[in-house]
Amino acid sequence: MDDKASSAPLRKLLENLSGAGKAIGVLTSGGDAQGMNAAVRAVVRMGIYVGAKVYFIYEGYQGMVDGGTNIVEADWESVSSILQVGGTIIGSARCKAFRTREGRLKAACNLVQLGITNLCVIGGDGSLTGANIFRSEWNGLLEELAQNGKIDKEAVHKYAYLNVVGMVGSIDNDFCGTDMTIGTDSALHRIIEVVDAIMTTAQRYLALVSALACGADWVFLPESPPEEGWEDSMCVKLSENRARKKRLNIIIVAEGAIDTQNKPITSEKIKELVVTQLGYDTRVTILGHVQRGGTPSAFDRILASRMGVEAVIALLEATPETPACVVSLSGNHAVRLPLMECVQMTQDVQKAMDERRFKDAVQLRGRSFEGNLNTYKRLAIKLPDDQIPKSNCNVAVINVGAPAAGMNAAVRSAVRVGIADGHKMLAIYDGFDGFAKGQVNAWKSTLDEYHQAKDEPPLVTSSILNSDSTISFSPRSFEGNLNTYKRLAIKLPDDQIPKSNCNVAVINVGAPAAGMNAAVRSAVRVGIADGHKMLAIYDGFDGFAKGQIKEIGWGDVGGWTGQGGSILGTKRTLPGKNLEEIAAQMRAHNINALLIIGGFEAYLGLLELSAARERHEEFCVPMVMVPATVSNNVPGSDFSIGADTALNTITDAYSSALMLANARESHDEFCVPICVLPATVSNNIPGTDTSLGSDTGLNTIVEVCDCWSQAYGPQAIMLTLLTKFHGNKFKESHDCLQVARRYMYFIQ
Ligand code: ADP
Repeated sequence: MDDKASSAPLRKLLENLSGAGKAIGVLTSGGDAQGMNAAVRAVVRMGIYVGAKVYFIYEGYQGMVDGGTNIVEADWESVSSILQVGGTIIGSARCKAFRTREGRLKAACNLVQLGITNLCVIGGDGSLTGANIFRSEWNGLLEELAQNGKIDKEAVHKYAYLNVVGMVGSIDNDFCGTDMTIGTDSALHRIIEVVDAIMTTAQRYLALVSALACGADWVFLPESPPEEGWEDSMCVKLSENRARKKRLNIIIVAEGAIDTQNKPITSEKIKELVVTQLGYDTRVTILGHVQRGGTPSAFDRILASRMGVEAVIALLEATPETPACVVSLSGNHAVRLPLMECVQMTQDVQKAMDERRFKDAVQLRGRSFEGNLNTYKRLAIKLPDDQIPKSNCNVAVINVGAPAAGMNAAVRSAVRVGIADGHKMLAIYDGFDGFAKGQVNAWKSTLDEYHQAKDEPPLVTSSILNSDSTISFSPRSFEGNLNTYKRLAIKLPDDQIPKSNCNVAVINVGAPAAGMNAAVRSAVRVGIADGHKMLAIYDGFDGFAKGQIKEIGWGDVGGWTGQGGSILGTKRTLPGKNLEEIAAQMRAHNINALLIIGGFEAYLGLLELSAARERHEEFCVPMVMVPATVSNNVPGSDFSIGADTALNTITDAYSSALMLANARESHDEFCVPICVLPATVSNNIPGTDTSLGSDTGLNTIVEVCDCWSQAYGPQAIMLTLLTKFHGNKFKESHDCLQVARRYMYFIQ
């Protein structure tokens, strides 16, 4: 890649990282977790991207020990369309043989034969411990293999070191050193869905966060057993709730919950207690595998992708002295921590609990667990009035600006924490307008008022401070936006434009993504303002080879900002097969610089062109790419063009469905089943590799319509936001609408 043209971070990444001649093995081990596929995909693609060979090791350590067809080289396509798939496509298993040196000897033999000296293990603390043992024994294992005549002496020398990097894939979120493990967020989504049911046994380490998110009445955790006499306190609390007409109590019991004497507390035991002491109808729902079900959440996909990339970088940067590391999440950043220290801490938690050192256990679980526990306690359990300090302080709470989800939860926290600290809490209604008019009420610290804080209607917000007022707080971004706006909207008179004699071509590559057209528009206008001649290449690298290239002017890109898809036309084809033709077109049009806007194919295409520089001097020009993909899965960028729109569209679909559901009370017409079609389509969106608006989309829609109308009859309402998804592909959207109308009322 041309030094001047490439952006600094990309240049640095490529300079420092060469995977050429290296082989990486990737495996998933132990229990499966949502998002493992995203991690596998990221390792494979990042590995290939930096020129390494990447091997799938199927069925965890068992595949490594068995070898043969269990270890297979992966290519780019082998990980297409797996982001949204639950579990792990390369299989995960528990393997007794790997716990023995004999088993590990076999595994080492299989790896050496393929030249694999880099291992990426995605699993829980057991799997990572195994990997670390394997790494420390590696040299000895190779010596033994050479003595047995399985490998030659040269191989012992050549493959002397095994680099190991771990990623924690586990729905337990029980690993010390990382804020979130891959799979936790998806499991949490499942739990929160099911917690609408009554009582639940949750996966141990998710119980606390679920309790926080659901506002549970009581939570039993192994690290923080309830105080002696908890049976009575719990029953008192539940009956108080009933007295206030609260019909539903939620109690969350974590797997492994115990009392201070280390005796197990089970959901059955609690049910018995509630039924005998209070006589309430009580149901137990055991979540079990439900937590592993479904597709991975957006967070897990993003987390796993980011971690996978970091893992490959860690492997390539490893030296013989680097200890095995685990890629963790700390404060929203992927960081590397020493693997064994984290494993040790994780095991220490269990030890502390066994020895009834519960305070230590909570501390060892880390800051975020401790923080969550304290928050939960402060918000759910009120101290008796006489234990609350008196502060003589009046604290007022007000909502200002547009309403936002979570505002009420924030008010609830503030009120409860304030009351617990002895302050008098005041609510100001209707923002600053209400403040001026004196719409202020006290939340008294009586038990009733206190408990009502949770169910209090929202403090209605007004928009006195509308979002414009934030401009003054971010002068740089405002100034930047203003300059960009000016450059893009106002054309200088021709005689004021410098002349550069440079021809710059713009091309879209990969699947269409919202925002691609806005990027082309910016590039074209900025280019023209700088005096270059701007050329548009139509239909991706295919069109490039065929000479579909035309000069594009300032006015040609007018109105492109708000248009979805790719107006230039985009294809996933790579330039590889047509390098001769493309070089000829570069020559014919005298292209002096190339801008590629697209997803992973754009990265790959750019790499192919730069690799062909020795043979074709036409490619020895600045070439730059801008990531644009709804998958948001490209290395080196937090957010790619298109990702935000995709997420917003999904959110819109859900909000619309919710509004319809709420309208049921006042409109009989809505008392029919409602289907949000994009929710089905959208399963593919953050992760899909197939282009939106393709045949797949249409087929899915027809299928869904058929099932839906068969199940509920033609009155069912289907909500679709297809045109948003399909961008400029109106024809297909139109077809979809026709299909939709055939069956049901259509609301746009
Ligand atoms: P997790 O990785 O989810 O904690 P396990 O503890 O069951 O799951 O470990 C998964 C696999 O990792 C085991 O079946 C075994 O093959 C390997 N493993 C676990 N602990 C060790 C160990 N101490 N030594 C060697 N291999 C181990």
